[in-house]
Amino acid sequence: MEFDELYQELILDHYKHPRRKRAIPEGEALVDEENPVCGDHIRLFWRVEEGRLRDVAFDGHGCAISMASASMMTERLEGADVETARRLIEAFIGMLRGERAPSDEAMGDLLALEGVREFPMRIKCATLAWHAAEKALNRAQASSLARASGS
Ligand code: ZN
Repeated sequence: MEFDELYQELILDHYKHPRRKRAIPEGEALVDEENPVCGDHIRLFWRVEEGRLRDVAFDGHGCAISMASASMMTERLEGADVETARRLIEAFIGMLRGERAPSDEAMGDLLALEGVREFPMRIKCATLAWHAAEKALNRAQASSLARASGS
């Protein structure tokens, strides 16, 4: 089997059997993001316990790339500490922008999505879940800063 085919298999497998997908009620979602160009829609949930992301889950609908990317991302973020999650998100979005070459070991299965770079219209599909996660982390940080300053 060709290397590319293996990657396609992996993407399709995550699309058909999403790993951490469950129904997330609107009020429970940390973020709600859409990619109107393709019609992808995603919600994310996790809770932070002792600095680590737990019960990471996604909900939504969309193309194979957006859903596979969300499945792979939630799998990687489960149990990760906040800083590691942030670095992984930056590395992934950077990889899709072609801005930097992350180490292959650090990216693991996520390299399957690197090829999306060749299809500019689909880059937003691949990064939708990641931008949503970034937004959720930033919001959590902003609200804990607000609490710390007593406002
Ligand atoms: Zn899409």
